[in-house]
Amino acid sequence: MPRPTGKVWVSLKIIMLGPPGSGKGTQAAMLKEQLGVPAISTGAILRSEIAAGTDIGLKADGYISRGELVPDDVIIDIVERRFLQPDCQKGFILDGFPRTTAQAEALDAKGVKIDAVVVLNLDDEVIVKRMSGRRICKKCDASFHVEKNPPKAEGICDFCGGALYTRVDDAPETVRNRLDTYHKNTEPLLDYYKNLLRNVESYGNIDDVLKSILAALGV
Ligand code: AMP
Repeated sequence: MPRPTGKVWVSLKIIMLGPPGSGKGTQAAMLKEQLGVPAISTGAILRSEIAAGTDIGLKADGYISRGELVPDDVIIDIVERRFLQPDCQKGFILDGFPRTTAQAEALDAKGVKIDAVVVLNLDDEVIVKRMSGRRICKKCDASFHVEKNPPKAEGICDFCGGALYTRVDDAPETVRNRLDTYHKNTEPLLDYYKNLLRNVESYGNIDDVLKSILAALGV
């Protein structure tokens, strides 16, 4: 791992891996504050493209609502453009990318050197139950849970005051599709990144999981 200079890391490139609903987005947002590097969520970028009615959004919408993966070329293009923004110079936390071997190979081909891959482990049945309580901010995509991580005011985002909603793809049937997709397409990345893995159990409350991640990263 690169050494921090004071509280600022020279460069830190982390991938958050794990099934949908294992807490990647919530933990990436908390880690971003701790580590001072941006959290990049391909899912959040796609949702904002859909809301804005762009060509990318129109392409992605059907795949997302069916719980399928958006084609690699669309995703790789989004990530490449996001990397060009200046805040990525000190590193980044990738939340939801890569999700296929082709996406991981595209990162390698770009010469991006990943420091650690945090794997959040959570059982499928716990995930299906958890997802029905998840609420997302329409404006900033922050994630809450009605029981495990409730907002201070019901239906309102703590961070930006945006309205909270339930994602269409969090419906139990779609979550099961997303889990199947994860096992088939994304789980092979555990082997791809076998030398960089930091396994963390994601059953506890969000602060305890964050502590475990920081310990696993050695920070
Ligand atoms: P997430 O917010 O990470 O749960 O992503 C929501 C949905 O966006 C996924 O179920 C996919 O349909 C799509 N998506 C997000 N990231 C990717 C990716 N790296 N590759 C393909 N599809 C993605």
